Amino acid sequence: MNAEERKNLLYEVNLAGNCSNPIRIKGEMVNLTTGEVGLRSLHVTCKDRRAIICPSCSYLYKADAWILVSSGLVGGKGTPEEVQSHPRLFITLTAPSFGTVHTIKSRGECAGFTRSALQSGGGGFCVHGRPRICRSRHEEGSPELGRPLCRECFDYEGAVLWNAHASKLWNNTVQVIRRTLAETGGMRQSQLKLMAQLHYLKVAEMQRRGLIHLHAILRVDGPNEIEADPPAWLTTEVLASAVRHAARTAIAIGFDGQGRRWGDRLDIQDLGIDIQDTTKIPSYVAKYATKTTDGTKEMARKFHSRRQIQSLIDDPHARMLALTSWDLDHRPAFEPLRLRSHAHSFGFTGQLITKSRGYSTTFAALRGVRATYMSSRNIGDPIEGTFRYEGRGYDDPKASELAELLFSMQRDLRIEIAQARRAAPSNAPEASP
Ligand SMILES: [Zn+2]
Ligand SMILES: [Zn+2]
Ligand SMILES: [Zn+2]
Repeated sequence: MNAEERKNLLYEVNLAGNCSNPIRIKGEMVNLTTGEVGLRSLHVTCKDRRAIICPSCSYLYKADAWILVSSGLVGGKGTPEEVQSHPRLFITLTAPSFGTVHTIKSRGECAGFTRSALQSGGGGFCVHGRPRICRSRHEEGSPELGRPLCRECFDYEGAVLWNAHASKLWNNTVQVIRRTLAETGGMRQSQLKLMAQLHYLKVAEMQRRGLIHLHAILRVDGPNEIEADPPAWLTTEVLASAVRHAARTAIAIGFDGQGRRWGDRLDIQDLGIDIQDTTKIPSYVAKYATKTTDGTKEMARKFHSRRQIQSLIDDPHARMLALTSWDLDHRPAFEPLRLRSHAHSFGFTGQLITKSRGYSTTFAALRGVRATYMSSRNIGDPIEGTFRYEGRGYDDPKASELAELLFSMQRDLRIEIAQARRAAPSNAPEASP
């Protein structure tokens, strides 16, 4: 590659914002500076949230997710700062058990090794001749974690169908919380709306065992205007107790007529206590939001065939979950769940991040601000035209590698600058020229 070709490649990647897998669009374009008209191809960013697909777009998505969550907790980007004094909770809702899996408990031993399992005589073997308990202490990152003690005992259909109903279960949970708050205040829900509004942001995380886990921020504001306070009786404790009630009682009735509920593990954290939580929680959410189902490229996109699942996924537990989702799609009762299209997310059909309208700003608004900023930096001449989709990726496969390299260099540089700023004492005398 000669110097001119290298320069062009660099320019192309720079124009596409260091995106690894940009979208190619083509159309009749007018260069607004030169007046030149012509048919041109252009690369625009893929905007993929997953780091394994595009480090650069994922980095921006992560930053947007952070701002989105944070502004709902402390205000900013159009959300008033008064939200800081309103009841705010961070809750984690988990799926029930579909079979014992290897895990690390707080004291270090595996979950399979429980007192109740021993007391109930569960110490022996399952019908498939496998031990019912595990006495090992697993290391963090060990491949057995989240894998069933016996795959034949594990209820794969139950697990996939639970994932497929998780979004519905969440919606029902929010309804129960609203209803419970109204009952506590001794009023109807329509009356509660005139006094308070419940806002939320939730993010779905795939657990190692292949089941969805929901983290949500809940906030109660006054009526109409977000800055208004909710009524005095609607405290953080009242909200927490409504959440506990909803987690116990909410139910999602599936197309098969079966009810699905949350598991026993519920975590509720009051965000009004530790100020540090208001920076920690946005980081957690942003981290979950850029992952694929199991962190690999194989699980990042829809599968096209059963055979593709069999050949691409090495891990037997993940493969079984994806195959179960694929196969359940054949049953007429589950057709509306489109389980084939969601085999790569083990049946989970929902959006990764969802929020109520009033929680804070939107991804679209944040992207809009960035697009305006980018065009003000004016990389290349401004152009106008009508475009159509032409394909994916760069013409030269080296461009994708270059994009990742440039992105990682810029990121490292940003980190170095931030570290240097933190290390430098703020009252240091300015360097003499
Ligand atoms: Zn991209
Ligand atoms: Zn174990
Ligand atoms: Zn078994």
